[in-house]
Amino acid sequence: MKPRVVVFGLGGTIAMSATSSGGVAPKLTAEELVSAVPGLAEAEVDVEVVQFRQLPGASLTLGDIAALCDAIELRSSSADGFVVTQGTDTIEETAYLIDLLHPLVQPVVVTGAMRNPTMAGADGPANLLAAVVLAADPVARGLGCVVVMNDQVHAASRIRKGHSTNTGTFASPNGGPLGYIVEGTARILNSVRRPGSVPADLTKPPRVPIYTAALGDDDETVRAIAGKADGLVVAAMGVGHVPAQLVDALAETATTRPVVLASRTGSGPVLSSTYGFPGSERDLLARGLISAGLLDPLKARILLAAAISAGGDIRTMRRAFAVAGGLSNDESWPWKPDSEKIN
Ligand code: ASP
Repeated sequence: MKPRVVVFGLGGTIAMSATSSGGVAPKLTAEELVSAVPGLAEAEVDVEVVQFRQLPGASLTLGDIAALCDAIELRSSSADGFVVTQGTDTIEETAYLIDLLHPLVQPVVVTGAMRNPTMAGADGPANLLAAVVLAADPVARGLGCVVVMNDQVHAASRIRKGHSTNTGTFASPNGGPLGYIVEGTARILNSVRRPGSVPADLTKPPRVPIYTAALGDDDETVRAIAGKADGLVVAAMGVGHVPAQLVDALAETATTRPVVLASRTGSGPVLSSTYGFPGSERDLLARGLISAGLLDPLKARILLAAAISAGGDIRTMRRAFAVAGGLSNDESWPWKPDSEKIN
């Protein structure tokens, strides 16, 4: 029996073609994408196609991704793996949300393209072939959600988009890629921790803005943003620092809603016990902010939105961030292990 993979098309550059008003926009169906991939018919994989959304990555919502996860779960008994094609603009966020919502052992492999199909050297077909090959391979079972681009396999919890146009834009600065696609075969070299999923209900997603601390900020903007938020992520300087002028506003906000402290640097952890000045990581954590650990601000926002939607109290959120941020072990994950959720 051939392995069975379900491909969900969500739009993005991989599915774009020229419009009459100029520029490209999502148009090609998932069926058209799959049938344009050289070598896929010979790949010994039974492919089912679902046209799920037709949007640029920027217009996908948390609700779209939650609905996608429901559609994936509905097919759990008949598929060995899943592929999602979408815009690369938001892959680092959607993939992590899928990873948090997905309790199944079958992998979800997200891919896209940096060059649209009208361009020389369009990378969509190669990325889609690599994604299907990986999703069909038993080696991917238990990996959760991964992203395949440019023949690299990245964990959803680590991947970042680092260049606006380059086909090698994706990297995992904390930990490196999980593996590679070599001569059409997946080679997984590293493991990834997956503590469990989050029982989030994203029908009405919470409002979780990211506030980036910057040179010379005062507290007006942060107060305005925080006042309308269900939770706040602070993209702080360096290892978790903000101007001293922001400390009171952040500490006050943290008394009424979760405020997560992440680093705006793009890699590396928030520290916990090194600096001792007003606005330092020690100061902010002592005033009730939650450390994102190794999660960058975009990932921290996704986890915070999921945790709020799961109805978690502040202790639950602290435990979730400690585990997901790499500060404590998987047994502290506040929700049921996935093995207890799946029949
Ligand atoms: N540049 C984007 C992409 O690579 C556009 C999008 O996210 O839809 O797909």
